[in-house]
Amino acid sequence: MADPTDSAAAAAGLRARLRWDAADGSIHDGPRRYLMMRPDVLMGTLARLPGPVRAQVQDAFADSVAAHGIDSIRAYFRQVGEDPPKLMAATVQAAADLGWGAWRFEPGRGRLGLAVTGSPFAQGAATAARPACAPIRGMLQAVATVATGIESEAYELRCVACGAPRCEFEARWAAC
Ligand SMILES: [Zn+2]
Repeated sequence: MADPTDSAAAAAGLRARLRWDAADGSIHDGPRRYLMMRPDVLMGTLARLPGPVRAQVQDAFADSVAAHGIDSIRAYFRQVGEDPPKLMAATVQAAADLGWGAWRFEPGRGRLGLAVTGSPFAQGAATAARPACAPIRGMLQAVATVATGIESEAYELRCVACGAPRCEFEARWAAC
Protein backbone atom coordinates (compact mmCIF):
# COMPACT_ATOMS: atom_id res chain seq x y z
CA MET A 1 0.00 0.00 0.00
CA ALA A 2 1.35 3.43 -0.86
CA ASP A 3 2.00 5.52 2.21
CA PRO A 4 -0.71 8.23 2.16
CA THR A 5 1.43 10.38 4.48
CA ASP A 6 4.18 10.56 1.88
CA SER A 7 3.17 14.07 0.89
CA ALA A 8 6.44 14.75 -0.92
CA ALA A 9 5.79 11.84 -3.29
CA ALA A 10 2.15 12.88 -3.67
CA ALA A 11 3.16 16.46 -4.50
CA ALA A 12 5.69 15.20 -7.02
CA GLY A 13 2.90 13.46 -8.93
CA LEU A 14 2.37 10.05 -10.43
CA ARG A 15 5.31 10.21 -12.81
CA ALA A 16 7.72 10.64 -9.87
CA ARG A 17 6.10 7.74 -7.99
CA LEU A 18 6.14 5.23 -10.84
CA ARG A 19 8.73 2.50 -10.42
CA TRP A 20 10.00 0.54 -13.40
CA ASP A 21 11.33 -2.89 -12.36
CA ALA A 22 13.41 -4.33 -15.19
CA ALA A 23 13.82 -7.72 -13.47
CA ASP A 24 10.05 -8.18 -13.05
CA GLY A 25 9.14 -6.32 -16.23
CA SER A 26 6.63 -4.24 -14.26
CA ILE A 27 5.59 -0.63 -13.62
CA HIS A 28 4.04 0.20 -10.23
CA ASP A 29 2.66 3.16 -8.28
CA GLY A 30 2.81 1.64 -4.80
CA PRO A 31 0.67 -1.52 -5.02
CA ARG A 32 -1.00 -0.47 -8.28
CA ARG A 33 0.51 -1.98 -11.42
CA TYR A 34 0.37 -0.06 -14.72
CA LEU A 35 0.53 -1.18 -18.33
CA MET A 36 2.02 0.88 -21.12
CA MET A 37 0.34 0.26 -24.48
CA ARG A 38 0.05 2.02 -27.84
CA PRO A 39 -3.41 3.56 -28.29
CA ASP A 40 -3.64 2.42 -31.91
CA VAL A 41 -3.16 -1.18 -30.71
CA LEU A 42 -5.84 -0.83 -28.02
CA MET A 43 -8.35 1.01 -30.17
CA GLY A 44 -7.55 -1.15 -33.21
CA THR A 45 -8.84 -4.11 -31.19
CA LEU A 46 -12.19 -2.37 -30.78
CA ALA A 47 -12.24 -1.38 -34.46
CA ARG A 48 -12.13 -5.08 -35.37
CA LEU A 49 -15.41 -5.77 -33.54
CA PRO A 50 -18.90 -5.37 -35.03
CA GLY A 51 -20.59 -2.09 -34.01
CA PRO A 52 -23.00 -3.41 -31.34
CA VAL A 53 -20.27 -5.51 -29.70
CA ARG A 54 -17.88 -2.55 -29.82
CA ALA A 55 -20.44 -0.44 -27.93
CA GLN A 56 -20.81 -3.17 -25.29
CA VAL A 57 -17.04 -3.46 -24.88
CA GLN A 58 -16.72 0.34 -24.56
CA ASP A 59 -19.35 0.34 -21.79
CA ALA A 60 -17.58 -2.55 -20.04
CA PHE A 61 -14.29 -0.65 -20.41
CA ALA A 62 -15.80 2.43 -18.73
CA ASP A 63 -17.29 0.32 -15.93
CA SER A 64 -13.98 -1.46 -15.34
CA VAL A 65 -11.98 1.79 -15.24
CA ALA A 66 -14.52 3.26 -12.80
CA ALA A 67 -14.44 0.16 -10.57
CA HIS A 68 -10.65 -0.30 -10.56
CA GLY A 69 -9.65 3.36 -10.97
CA ILE A 70 -11.58 4.36 -7.86
CA ASP A 71 -8.76 2.72 -5.88
CA SER A 72 -6.25 5.17 -7.40
CA ILE A 73 -8.63 8.10 -6.98
CA ARG A 74 -9.23 7.29 -3.29
CA ALA A 75 -5.44 7.14 -2.78
CA TYR A 76 -5.05 10.57 -4.43
CA PHE A 77 -7.94 11.90 -2.29
CA ARG A 78 -6.18 10.84 0.93
CA GLN A 79 -2.88 12.28 -0.31
CA VAL A 80 -4.47 15.73 -0.82
CA GLY A 81 -6.29 15.82 2.53
CA GLU A 82 -9.70 14.91 1.03
CA ASP A 83 -9.95 18.30 -0.68
CA PRO A 84 -12.04 17.99 -3.91
CA PRO A 85 -10.32 20.81 -5.89
CA LYS A 86 -6.94 19.32 -5.00
CA LEU A 87 -8.21 15.88 -6.04
CA MET A 88 -9.13 17.31 -9.44
CA ALA A 89 -5.69 18.94 -9.76
CA ALA A 90 -3.98 15.65 -8.81
CA THR A 91 -6.15 13.78 -11.35
CA VAL A 92 -5.28 16.27 -14.11
CA GLN A 93 -1.60 15.73 -13.36
CA ALA A 94 -1.94 11.94 -13.18
CA ALA A 95 -3.86 11.88 -16.48
CA ALA A 96 -1.06 13.88 -18.13
CA ASP A 97 1.58 11.59 -16.56
CA LEU A 98 -0.24 8.54 -17.97
CA GLY A 99 -0.56 10.05 -21.44
CA TRP A 100 -4.36 10.32 -21.18
CA GLY A 101 -4.44 13.83 -22.68
CA ALA A 102 -4.77 17.36 -21.25
CA TRP A 103 -7.72 17.45 -18.84
CA ARG A 104 -9.65 20.43 -17.49
CA PHE A 105 -12.43 19.94 -14.96
CA GLU A 106 -15.39 22.29 -15.25
CA PRO A 107 -17.46 21.96 -12.03
CA GLY A 108 -21.08 23.09 -12.23
CA ARG A 109 -24.32 22.90 -10.30
CA GLY A 110 -25.26 19.22 -9.88
CA ARG A 111 -22.66 18.16 -12.43
CA LEU A 112 -18.95 17.85 -13.01
CA GLY A 113 -17.79 18.66 -16.53
CA LEU A 114 -14.50 17.57 -18.01
CA ALA A 115 -12.90 18.79 -21.24
CA VAL A 116 -10.02 16.80 -22.71
CA THR A 117 -7.73 17.67 -25.60
CA GLY A 118 -5.35 15.11 -27.06
CA SER A 119 -7.24 12.02 -25.86
CA PRO A 120 -5.18 8.97 -26.91
CA PHE A 121 -8.38 6.94 -27.22
CA ALA A 122 -9.91 9.36 -29.74
CA GLN A 123 -6.62 9.56 -31.60
CA GLY A 124 -6.29 5.76 -31.64
CA ALA A 125 -9.89 5.35 -32.82
CA ALA A 126 -9.28 7.58 -35.88
CA THR A 127 -12.97 8.05 -36.80
CA ALA A 128 -15.95 6.67 -34.90
CA ALA A 129 -19.73 6.83 -35.04
CA ARG A 130 -19.95 7.23 -31.27
CA PRO A 131 -17.63 8.68 -28.61
CA ALA A 132 -14.49 6.60 -28.22
CA CYS A 133 -13.07 7.66 -24.84
CA ALA A 134 -14.75 5.17 -22.50
CA PRO A 135 -11.74 4.92 -20.14
CA ILE A 136 -11.84 8.69 -19.49
CA ARG A 137 -15.62 8.48 -18.94
CA GLY A 138 -15.01 5.74 -16.34
CA MET A 139 -12.31 7.73 -14.56
CA LEU A 140 -14.52 10.84 -14.43
CA GLN A 141 -17.24 8.73 -12.82
CA ALA A 142 -14.72 7.58 -10.16
CA VAL A 143 -13.54 11.16 -9.49
CA ALA A 144 -17.10 12.50 -9.19
CA THR A 145 -18.10 9.67 -6.85
CA VAL A 146 -15.05 10.00 -4.59
CA ALA A 147 -15.13 13.83 -4.49
CA THR A 148 -18.74 13.91 -3.28
CA GLY A 149 -19.35 10.49 -1.73
CA ILE A 150 -22.41 10.18 -4.01
CA GLU A 151 -22.68 7.59 -6.78
CA SER A 152 -22.49 9.26 -10.18
CA GLU A 153 -22.96 8.42 -13.85
CA ALA A 154 -20.64 9.84 -16.50
CA TYR A 155 -21.21 10.48 -20.19
CA GLU A 156 -19.06 11.57 -23.13
CA LEU A 157 -21.09 14.28 -24.85
CA ARG A 158 -18.70 15.13 -27.69
CA CYS A 159 -15.62 13.32 -28.98
CA VAL A 160 -12.74 14.21 -31.27
CA ALA A 161 -13.19 10.77 -32.88
CA CYS A 162 -16.66 12.00 -34.04
CA GLY A 163 -15.27 15.29 -35.38
CA ALA A 164 -15.59 17.53 -32.28
CA PRO A 165 -12.74 19.96 -31.54
CA ARG A 166 -12.27 18.45 -28.06
CA CYS A 167 -13.76 15.64 -26.00
CA GLU A 168 -16.38 16.80 -23.48
CA PHE A 169 -17.69 14.71 -20.60
CA GLU A 170 -20.20 15.20 -17.82
CA ALA A 171 -20.82 13.37 -14.54
CA ARG A 172 -24.19 13.71 -12.83
CA TRP A 173 -25.02 12.57 -9.33
CA ALA A 174 -27.85 10.18 -8.62
CA ALA A 175 -29.34 12.59 -6.05
CA CYS A 176 -29.53 15.52 -8.53
ZN1 LIG B 1 -13.34 11.37 -26.93
